[in-house]
Amino acid sequence: MSKAELTFEALTDERIARITEACTLCGKCFEACPMVPYSSAKGAEPEAVVRSVIGLLNDRPYAPEGAVWAETCQKSGVCIEACPEDVNPREMLVYAKLKLQREKQSPESRAGAGRGYFQLLSRTIRLMSAIQMEPGLWRRLTAVHGGKRREAGAVFYFGCNILQTPHILLSCMDVFDRMGLDYEVAGGMAHCCGVNHIRRGDLEAGAAMGAKSLGRFRAYSPERVITFCPTCQMQYTEYMPLYAKAELRLAGGGKAGGAGEPLPFVHITQHLAENLDLLRPLFVRPVNKRVAVHLHGGVEGVERNLRAVLAAVPGLEVAEIDQLSGHGYQCPTLVLPAAKRALRERLFASAREAGVDSLLTVYHSCHRELCAAEKDQPFRVENFMSILGEAMGFEYPDRTKTFKLYEDMDRVLGEAGDFLRAHGIEPEKAREELRAALYGEAPRPAVRA
Ligand code: SF4
Ligand code: SF4
Repeated sequence: MSKAELTFEALTDERIARITEACTLCGKCFEACPMVPYSSAKGAEPEAVVRSVIGLLNDRPYAPEGAVWAETCQKSGVCIEACPEDVNPREMLVYAKLKLQREKQSPESRAGAGRGYFQLLSRTIRLMSAIQMEPGLWRRLTAVHGGKRREAGAVFYFGCNILQTPHILLSCMDVFDRMGLDYEVAGGMAHCCGVNHIRRGDLEAGAAMGAKSLGRFRAYSPERVITFCPTCQMQYTEYMPLYAKAELRLAGGGKAGGAGEPLPFVHITQHLAENLDLLRPLFVRPVNKRVAVHLHGGVEGVERNLRAVLAAVPGLEVAEIDQLSGHGYQCPTLVLPAAKRALRERLFASAREAGVDSLLTVYHSCHRELCAAEKDQPFRVENFMSILGEAMGFEYPDRTKTFKLYEDMDRVLGEAGDFLRAHGIEPEKAREELRAALYGEAPRPAVRA
């Protein structure tokens, strides 16, 4: 295969041709989509909407409903099960969205948008980590190891944004250590999956980043890569063929070190559920709480696996609650305001009605958005990893929630100033960025993972 045939764009064109051929325009995906009622595509004829999407994908004239639906997609994946053919409608809409975006961009603005957002996100993650962890720990977690290091049973690919909630990350590592897992960590911006560039239309830069990270995971010859972030998991499973080919391109077409071969990515909830025999003896303390779990669709098996893990925690009672789990695949990327409002209202009302002691988040990203809500609710908001820690007898304080609940930047900087200075950051200079990260909406939630 020539290098030109291995560009991300050429590879997506191949996928688009496959989708076009397999889709029968039955419209079942559109009918099943829970986001349609929130959009102006509501009431449109399903076949016509999908026909418009296919037109858009193939650079033909298209009716506006297809574009509206593509922009409305929040990636819950409810449509995937609804499709009777061998098509992933979520993937179809990702390409449609990219086409729309690229229609509006010059190559320069595309590259600038990806780079600009990446820099902003890096800075936010750095600051949020710096108010909560020592520089030595930061360096250890985000170190990049080039070349072949050692063989490890697993790589824990924690992504980047979980660094904003270190208590969750450290809890995962503590649990893995207690389970005796032979693993290495890989995360931070140097191990980006490339999604931030790809979502802004800079396909090649994003693919190159994701492929480079893939190579770094391979350096440990792991049996599996364990993820936490739903975006990382979705990217590397749904688009693995594209990343693997991008990796081959980076390697000049050679397959050294396994380049181009698929690598199994497994969400942490699956890894834990598959190892309940190792977990059970580690649960040495009862957790006498009634809890409910905040769920999203999007990543296969998370709900089932998490239920199995929580059922093994002694004393824990898990209440079933009515919630809108088809609204997005995580809270921050659910950017339709009415859908976000509806999700929260239903979730909090159901948890109150169920009389829970704690509402459990699964993803770090949802935790960041929801944790401070406990000030107005009769229950706590905790991450499920904190519950596992409690059952094992350890606790990492949730400083993200503490700082959010303060609603007071002077108090945050007063307590975190020494940490910031140790990272070489002057607290006052970080004030406004930290305010935005803790109490505002920065960086733009549409693309936070
Ligand atoms: S992924 Fe979710 S939001 Fe997107 S089209 Fe499918 S059902 Fe609708
Ligand atoms: S459900 Fe599948 S086959 Fe039917 S229109 Fe949607 S993508 Fe095409």
